[in-house]
Amino acid sequence: MKKKQFKTESKKILDLMINSVYTNKDIFLRELISNASDAIDKLYYKSLTDRKVKLDKDDFRIRVDLDKDKRTITITDNGIGMSEEELDENLGIIAKSGSSLFKEMNEKNKDINIIGQFGVGFYSAFMVAKEIKVLSKAFGSDEAYEWISDGADGYSINNASKDEVGTTITLYLKDNTETDNYDEFLEPRRIEGIIKKYSDYVKYPIIMEKEVEKDEDDKKEKVIEDETINSMIPIWKRNESEVTEEEYNSFYADKFYDFEKPLKTIHSSVEGQVSYSSLMFIPSHAPYDYYTKEYEKGLQLYSNGVLIMDKCADLLPDYFSFVKGLVDSEDVSLNLSREMLQQDRQVKLIAKSIEKKIKSTLEELLSDNREEYEKFFDAFGMQLKYGIYSSYGMNNDVLKDLLLFYSSKEKKRITLKEYVANMKDKQEKIYYASGESIDKIDLLPNVERFKDKDYEVLYLCDYVDEFTIQALMEYEGKKFVNVNSENTDLDEPEEKEKLEKHNKEAEKMFEVMKKALPEVKNIKFTNKLKNHPVCLSTEGNISLEMEKLMMQMANGDNVKAEIVLEINEDHPIAHELETLYKKDKDKLAQYTKILYNQARLIEGLPIENPTELTNLICDNLIKEK
Ligand code: ADP
Repeated sequence: MKKKQFKTESKKILDLMINSVYTNKDIFLRELISNASDAIDKLYYKSLTDRKVKLDKDDFRIRVDLDKDKRTITITDNGIGMSEEELDENLGIIAKSGSSLFKEMNEKNKDINIIGQFGVGFYSAFMVAKEIKVLSKAFGSDEAYEWISDGADGYSINNASKDEVGTTITLYLKDNTETDNYDEFLEPRRIEGIIKKYSDYVKYPIIMEKEVEKDEDDKKEKVIEDETINSMIPIWKRNESEVTEEEYNSFYADKFYDFEKPLKTIHSSVEGQVSYSSLMFIPSHAPYDYYTKEYEKGLQLYSNGVLIMDKCADLLPDYFSFVKGLVDSEDVSLNLSREMLQQDRQVKLIAKSIEKKIKSTLEELLSDNREEYEKFFDAFGMQLKYGIYSSYGMNNDVLKDLLLFYSSKEKKRITLKEYVANMKDKQEKIYYASGESIDKIDLLPNVERFKDKDYEVLYLCDYVDEFTIQALMEYEGKKFVNVNSENTDLDEPEEKEKLEKHNKEAEKMFEVMKKALPEVKNIKFTNKLKNHPVCLSTEGNISLEMEKLMMQMANGDNVKAEIVLEINEDHPIAHELETLYKKDKDKLAQYTKILYNQARLIEGLPIENPTELTNLICDNLIKEK
C-alpha cells in the first residue's frame, strides 16, 4: 500500500517528538500502556453489556517484551483492536485530546519541553523509537493489518496476519548518541521501574518475562516465567495516606491531559445511603476552551472499576464544571444509559454528596491557603459568580461564601463574611461601586465620600459582578447598595434636613433645568461630593454599569437606568446656577447640559451629542462681548 502523509498538526507534534530533548522520555511507556488498557476496557465493557460476547475478565492482560538483539520493545494487548480504517484515522491524525493540548501549548508557546512532561499519547513513542509497527486485529474481524511508520516520512498500512484479537506495538529503538542512551529501555529492571512508577494502578495485569532460578532435582536451573509487575489497585481505591503526590499528579496528567499539576486533589471514600470512591482535581488554570461552548463538563463514571461513561455531566453542577476526576460506585448499574442518568437515584445522591465535598474543599482552601485560593478564583471565580446570577439566586447558599471582591479599605480581595465582620457600628448595608477598573472606581466622586466617612466599599469590575450582587440581594441580612444609588443613608439627621430644605427651595429652578434634559429622571443638590461639581446616581434597580452592559447585548438597548443628576450644593457652580435662574434661563439650560455631560464623562458613559457639547463649551469660554 502506498505511503500516506500525516496531517499537518500531527506532523508538528511528530517533529517535536522525534527531536525532543526532553529527559523524561520514559513516559512513552505510560502512554502506550494507557492506550492498551483503554482498548481492553472497551472490549471488557462489550462483554458485560452484550450477552453474545463471552469473555473472561481474567484473560485480559498487557504484555511488555524486550529484545536486546533486535533492540525492540513490544507492547501487546488483547483489547478491542483496530480495523484498517481505525489505524488510519486514529494513528494518522493526532487524537483529539492531544490536539487540544497542542493548541494550548501553541498559545503559551513557552517551553517545548512541556510536551515531554506528559506526552501526547501514541506519538510520544517517537521520542525513543526510530520506527514503529502497530499490528492489530479488531474484535469481530478476521483480518489483521499492520501500520508502519518512521515518523518523518508518513506511514503505510498493509495486510498482515495475527491470531489473537488486539494490538501489538513494536518500537525499534533509536540509535544511541553521545547524549542519549536508548539501551536503558532494554533493561528489564528499568522498564519494570517505569511501569511501577506510572502504571501501577492499571487494572489489568502488565506482564513481563522474568528469569528465575528454580530448584529442580537438587539442580539449580534458570527458567523464564511471566510476572505481573503492577499492583492493579486503582489509585482511587488505595488509601489516601499511601498515595504520593507524584502519583496523584502523574495520574491527573495522564487522564486529563493537563501539563500543569492540579491546584488541589480531592480523594474521598463515602459509605452510606450510597457508597462510592472519588478522585477529583481542581486544575490550576482554566483550560483554553473553558469559557466557550466547546467545553464539556463531567466526571468519569465507573461501576465497580469498569468505566461506563467518560464525561458524566450529571455528576457536576455547572458552577463546579471546572472539576476533573472520576467516581467509582458499586451502586451504579453497569448498564446505565445516558437517557436514564438523570432519573437515576444513585447518581443524584452521588452528585449531591460530591457538590458538598467540592464546596467544603474550596472553603478549606480559602481559610487555610488564601494565596492558592486566589489563584483558583482568578481561574474560576467567574464561573462561581455566573452560577449565582444565572440561577436567579437559587445557588446563593452554596456559593456566597466562596466569592471574593476587591475592598477599598484592604486594597485586596475579601469575602463577604469579612466585609460584614468589618462593618462600622451602625452600618446596615454593604456598599459597592462598579466600573471598568479598580483605579477608575477609586476615582469616582461618590466613592470618595464613602472612603472619607470610613466606610468600606466593594469594587466590582467584572461584567457579571453587579448582576451577581443583585441576584444575591443580601448577605446575612445586610442589603447590597450601590454607592451611586439614592438610598445610601450616609447622612446624619441634621445634614439630611438641611439638604432637603435646600432642594425644596430650588424646586422651581430644577423644573427649568429638567426641560433642558428630558433624558434625566431627576435633578437635585447633593452634599456627598467634596470637590467635584456633579455626579450621576440612579433610581430603581438598573445601575449605570448595568445599562452600559445591556447596551452591548442584543435587545438590551431598551433597558435604561433612571438617571439622577446630582449637583454639589457647596460648589461655586451651585450658586452660579441659582444666579442664572434669576437672570438668564437660556444660559441656565446650557450650563445644565454641560454639567450633565461632564457627569457622564466621569462615569465613563458615552456623550450622545459631542458636537453640541463642544459648541456649548466654546460659547461659554468666550467671555461676554
Ligand atoms: P488518545 O489515547 O489520547 O486518544 P493516542 O494518540 O494515544 O491518543 O491514540 C489515538 C487513538 O488510537 C486512541 O484514541 C485509540 O482509539 C487508538 N489506539 C491507540 N492505541 C490503541 C490500542 N492499543 N488498541 C486500540 N486502539 C488504540
